[in-house]
Amino acid sequence: MITSPTFAGRRYAVLGLARSGLATVRALAASGAYVVGWDTDPEARARAAAIDGVIVHDIAELSLDGAAGLVVSPGVPLNTHPLAARAREAGVPVIGDIELFAQVRGDLPPHKVVGITGTNGKSTTTALIHHILRTAGVPSLMGGNIGLPILEQPPLPAGGVYVLELSSYQLDLTQGLDCDVAVLLNVTPDHLDRYDGFEAYAASKARLFAMQSPAHDAIIGIGDAPSAQIARGLSARGEHLTKIAPGICMDQSHWPALQGPHNAQNALAAIAAVKALGVSEADIDRGLASFTGLPHRMETVAVRNGVTFVDDSKATNPESTAPALGAFGRIHWIVGGKRKGDDLDACAPYFDRVVAAYTIGEAGPLFAGLLEGRVPTVTHSGDLAAAVAQAAAAARPGDTVLLSPACASFDQFRDYEERGAAFRAAVEALA
Ligand code: ADP
Repeated sequence: MITSPTFAGRRYAVLGLARSGLATVRALAASGAYVVGWDTDPEARARAAAIDGVIVHDIAELSLDGAAGLVVSPGVPLNTHPLAARAREAGVPVIGDIELFAQVRGDLPPHKVVGITGTNGKSTTTALIHHILRTAGVPSLMGGNIGLPILEQPPLPAGGVYVLELSSYQLDLTQGLDCDVAVLLNVTPDHLDRYDGFEAYAASKARLFAMQSPAHDAIIGIGDAPSAQIARGLSARGEHLTKIAPGICMDQSHWPALQGPHNAQNALAAIAAVKALGVSEADIDRGLASFTGLPHRMETVAVRNGVTFVDDSKATNPESTAPALGAFGRIHWIVGGKRKGDDLDACAPYFDRVVAAYTIGEAGPLFAGLLEGRVPTVTHSGDLAAAVAQAAAAARPGDTVLLSPACASFDQFRDYEERGAAFRAAVEALA
């Protein structure tokens, strides 16, 4: 756990006591801060109440005057939450665990921070940078949105690198993180329910660079207009700005877990990041070749009778599904769930690879209508198990059955991980 004398004697209110919130109250209390925590979930409250030095109380009933911060989980919608407005009125900063980490960096052994953001590819790029650093013998750890709360982890020895995956929600709660290397992969429409439009969402990503010292390194994928505009705004950085153009042809054959055009972009971003940290070409090559990828991102779960079954459950919007379609040949595409938009336009360039589509979930009927006449066959499967059985029955050796739903999972599953596990179970249950 990361603790710091900087927190001692200060008062914090922590809203949201799931994983990162729990790690936060634990680290603050262990540092000697006065901590009040709250969550609407009684079980989360009970877990926090068991921690020494943590008081559990409804923050809505308390005065925030004099608090050093209202620490909010990224899951809390800041744009509509009444407590956020109250904190702003009381002059109390609304922050997250990444900001707390940023505030105590001076108390940690000398280190570097890499911050990675973007609509798609964050986790892959984060895990890849971490893996290459480890391959090169550099102490490193991953934190942030990747699901590992940063304050929960033991601090790195001198010379270590903290590799932080940062969602836009986390960036909104961070004011003072000066990344040694900051990476923006792409900005495409997503999460618009939490922002006043696309520009506000793009602006939230741009803040990663606004917080940086100008002599630090910026790496930006310029495949979309907002990212390209952010890169143009940083042209004064000169050699400290690396732009990753889309469509670069390169040999990915030695990188088994980094197939497809999107992974070319992720790999180039990771290479630029670790080069900025001084990792050698030889170590980079070894890291790229030995990377095993992350679960539910174009993960091959089985090869049966010559048919490859690929779990890309993490693809929760059409932009992230498109590269998966681009990575295979004859595809039986399982698509649908809780949709984020009204079209599949981002996927259209790859429709010629789809031999059959199987629609599932809430978006099923709409997507079936969009796909009919544009791919050879469309089956209204309804649920995932039916889709897997129908696709497996139709597929020929050499084909790929791909779950890449282009939708969130919440209509039928708890999260994308449960959806991916259900896909695997359905494949394993095939006769
Ligand atoms: P994130 O953490 O940003 O959600 P992941 O690395 O988990 O991103 O990848 C999520 C999905 O997005 C993957 O299944 C893949 O299909 C797609 N994807 C990955 N990298 C990119 C990229 N650079 N551009 C577009 N889509 C991508």
